[in-house]
Amino acid sequence: MAEVHADVLIIGAGAAGSACAEALAEAGFGGSVVLAGRDVDPPYDRPMCSKHYLRGEVAREQTYLDVPDDLDLRIRTSVMKLDPEARVAKLSEGGELSFGQAVLATGANVRRLRVDGAELEGIHYLRTLGTADAIRAEVEDAERVVLVGGSYIACEVAATLTALGRRCTLVMLEDAPLAAHFGPTAGEFFAALLREHGIELVCGDGVERLEGDPRVQRVVCASGRELAADMVVMGTGAMPDVMLARAAGLELGDSGGVACTADLETSARGVWAAGDVCEYESVLHGGRVRIEHHEVARAQGRAAAAAMLGTRRPYAELPYFWTDLSDWCTAEWVGITEAPEQEVVRGSVDDAEFSILHLAGSRLVAALSVGRGEDLAHAQRLIVAATDLSGREAELAGGDLEAL
Ligand SMILES: Cc1cc2nc3c(=O)[nH]c(=O)nc-3n(C[C@H](O)[C@H](O)[C@H](O)COP(=O)(O)OP(=O)(O)OC[C@H]3O[C@@H](n4cnc5c(N)ncnc54)[C@H](O)[C@@H]3O)c2cc1C
Repeated sequence: MAEVHADVLIIGAGAAGSACAEALAEAGFGGSVVLAGRDVDPPYDRPMCSKHYLRGEVAREQTYLDVPDDLDLRIRTSVMKLDPEARVAKLSEGGELSFGQAVLATGANVRRLRVDGAELEGIHYLRTLGTADAIRAEVEDAERVVLVGGSYIACEVAATLTALGRRCTLVMLEDAPLAAHFGPTAGEFFAALLREHGIELVCGDGVERLEGDPRVQRVVCASGRELAADMVVMGTGAMPDVMLARAAGLELGDSGGVACTADLETSARGVWAAGDVCEYESVLHGGRVRIEHHEVARAQGRAAAAAMLGTRRPYAELPYFWTDLSDWCTAEWVGITEAPEQEVVRGSVDDAEFSILHLAGSRLVAALSVGRGEDLAHAQRLIVAATDLSGREAELAGGDLEAL
């Protein structure tokens, strides 16, 4: 017999887990809720780790997310084992907990680069406030920093550390920064922006090995190019944390996440998933997807709460994402694909005030906006309604989107 019972056990106290707890409280759920998280901090705004917090602009407590006052929040607590049949969980603090329903919101872990020299001192990955602290502490004595990766974390950290006065070099396999996510036109824009602020870009090249003893001193690229480095920050992606789910026998999906139905239920009845770990049947995408965005994690946490309270409906919110490159630029994105067939530009890329509309066939599938946030609401409507836009490129580029 388990010593403690929770009507709802939420595993993982991040964006999704805390949003789920908040939504249950807001809905007036009268049952007992335990939110267990293995981090040392209460739930916090993880995106701040590469932005305001890394820049030293906000204190640790200012990153904390709201949670209900009467929540049984257990930080520094890992769920070690989950038995979905018996509905019992084993906690790292000792003892067992029985539950009525559970939500897996275990997030993701950094993807580690496995090359020679990967274990040298001075090599960092960023996922938590603790890892941001480590970067902040070491960057004090570093003049040259090499960032690895062409996605938003490496770009954001390069911008942040440049703003703090460091000389940054960004190495990526992609032809341009952020191009894999936002498309080629945006990639050119971000490349120019980063260069303008003094960041050296090494595109279309990978890391072959890291050298130094015991501390990293240089990054050697596949092309043979050598980059001097006092410290290296890896932005080489993330992998869903499915350790607990796999051991519990839950079905996993193709992207390595926890396979879920359209309404976010896992292969075990009464066990739901939300956030970076959740690979769900998306009615919007027309297939299984897993999305690593803060607002998506929050929305899925709320959707799991609604489902547990009896409102089961397909999760169909259009993914939204933003990224900040220091205070130089904020880009916002809505969309359902990363491989557009055609791009239509509104506004002026040169003036850093533009939207890029991504079309697949005659339909709008995604939109990126820099300084034209008003375009996004219209884009969102056109994407969700799957409006036929064939032959309307001129209106998309220069017309009133509201009229479409
Ligand atoms: C540096 C950085 C910057 C980012 N910037 C942006 C941005 O600008 N815009 C954007 O949209 N997204 C951004 N993201 C992505 C966003 O933060 C994630 O999509 C979001 O945090 C996912 O929320 P989650 O709740 O699924 O997972 P997480 O926030 O990772 O939370 C999961 C929690 O579960 C805990 N956990 C795991 N296993 C267990 C267990 N067995 N027992 C107990 N606890 C467990 C983990 O320790 C973790 O605290 C950024 C991510 C990083 C790392």
